[in-house]
Formats: sequence, structure tokens, C-alpha cells
Amino acid sequence: MESEAVPSRYSRQVLFNGIGNSGQARIIASRVAMVGCGALGTMQASLLVRAGVGTLRIIDRDFVEESNLQRQILFDEEDVRSVMPKAVAAEKKLRSANSLVKIEGLVEDLNASSVDRLLGGFDLIMDASDNFDVRFLINDYAIKNRIPWIYGACVGSYGLTFPVLPGESACLRCIFESAPPAGISPSCDTAGVIGPIVSVIAGMQAAEALKILANQKDRVSRKITTVDLWDNRHEAVDLPSPHPDCPCCGRHAFPYLDGSLGADVTTLCGRNSVQIRRREGAYINLDDLAKRLEPVGRLEKNRFLLRAAIEGYQLTVFSDGRAIISGTYDSAIAKSLYARYIGN
Ligand SMILES: [Zn+2]
Repeated sequence: MESEAVPSRYSRQVLFNGIGNSGQARIIASRVAMVGCGALGTMQASLLVRAGVGTLRIIDRDFVEESNLQRQILFDEEDVRSVMPKAVAAEKKLRSANSLVKIEGLVEDLNASSVDRLLGGFDLIMDASDNFDVRFLINDYAIKNRIPWIYGACVGSYGLTFPVLPGESACLRCIFESAPPAGISPSCDTAGVIGPIVSVIAGMQAAEALKILANQKDRVSRKITTVDLWDNRHEAVDLPSPHPDCPCCGRHAFPYLDGSLGADVTTLCGRNSVQIRRREGAYINLDDLAKRLEPVGRLEKNRFLLRAAIEGYQLTVFSDGRAIISGTYDSAIAKSLYARYIGN
């Protein structure tokens, strides 16, 4: 591509050896989809939009809340007051940062029935989600359609990231056969999170994205990287090769795409409630869950169930992993509460 095709605003990336004029031209022609627009998402989106990707689609089902502002860098107090959807608020802020990028903020829930429509036709998928169901769905879709994607997760002062290059390196199910059981993993909403770890992990994800988009695949990290900023640990282990027996990339079964695994969500008519059930079955230790939820909600418990009043909703959790979220008919809100407070 001719040099005049690259706007001068990208001069510092063009000067950088790893990208240059041809790499920048490729970045400008690229299409990226980002799933989730919380802490990791706002940071990734800011980096990628400023770097000049051609299109960034932002998929998020949540609204901006006051407790987001400590780390979700694209949002402000006005977004909280006006209860702005995150995807819409992010699109507006990002547009003022770079009007050359086509930014699509979609207030949508990524699930088995929306995944083709929402992720079809993209060169790269960025994980900025908050739960394993969505990550396994991304993984199924990405492996089936041979699209690279970049895993990222943070909680507390700890974070983890690795790229998935279909056919070249391990996929998510090579590494984790299934999601960790609901109710055992800490989340940012039960164990907290500090902003700096978010910027570290999102920065690493964005760097891998630029390498992939600039066609520098040989420079892409082949490591699982973990960082703990409070314990001063930074570790990287080799990403395995694709496992021939992996159900997803080895045997090409995609149960999260056909909806046979993952969450089953049912609106309970006349009860202003949504029920969420694990298709693969689950067991939740209600005592452990109660310990994690004690700091954030008012709890009632008996030997059958745990009931928590959080954020104006009532979460009733059974030990088989089933939960009834009362106070909403909106399955997206219910799934978000389940991911944040119960499962992962
Ligand atoms: Zn695999």
C-alpha cells in the first residue's frame, strides 16, 4: 500500500520497526470484535481505537455503575447518572478519540443464538468478558471459523492472558476442559480488583492484537502469562500445542454453539424472575458461597438454599447450581448477576 494511505496521526506506530507502513495499513484495514466492555474492555478498546483498527465492534449487555469508575477508564459520572449502556458510552468516548475508526457499540448479550450475527466476519476477537460460558462460546466459534482470539481475565491484583491461534496453539478447552464449578472462584464483585492489573493484562492483549493485525504472527506470544502486582510475580509457561483429543479443536465438537452446554436461562412468567441452570449439571457449596457473598449482600440460608439481597435484586441459589434471580424479567441482567456473584 502507498505511504499516503496511512494518515500522519499514526506516525509513531509507522516509525516503530515492528509495524511500519505496511503493518499500519493492515491495522487500518482490520475488523476486531470485543466481547465485554468493563475494565479490560475499556482499556483494550482505547488502545485499539487509538492504534487505528478499521472497525471495532463492542458487545456488552451492562449499564455503567458508580463502582465501575475506579477502573473502567472510558466512563464518567454522567454515564452513571444517565444509566448509560456501556457499549453506547464507550462508542461515544472512542469516537472523539479517533473519528477514522468505525466503532459499533452493541447493547447485546452474546449467546448461542446471537453469536453468528455478532461475531461473523471479524479478523480477531478480544475477550473482555467476565465469565467462562462466554469464553467457551467464543472459543467454539473461533476454532470453528479459524479466527484468532485473545483470552484475558483479572481479579484482585492477579491477571492471566494468552492468545488462541486456531490450529497453531492450544485452544481454551485444551487448557480448561470445562468451566470451573460455579460458586468457587472469586470475582471482581466479591474479591475486588485494582486498576493497575487491568491495564497490564489489557495492554498485553492489545499488544498481541497489534502483532496479529499487522501480520507479525511469528512475534505473537506462545505463553500463558500470569501477573500478580501485589505479590510481585510475573510468570509465563509455554502454551501447549493443540491437543488431538481436545473436544473442541481436536474432535470439532462445539457444544457451546449448539447450546448443549452452558447456561440455560428461563424467564419465570408472573414472578418477575429469571431462572439460570447449568446444562452440564453443577454443585455449589452454599457455605463457601455464603462466605464470599457476606461482604456484599444481606443473606438468609437454610440447608436447601442461600438467598442474597444484592443491588436491589434477590438471588436464590440452590446447591445444584440453579439460581433464581428475582427483581427482573431481563435475562441479560440475570446472567450478569449470576456471572458476577455466583458463577464464573
Ligand atoms: Zn483445543
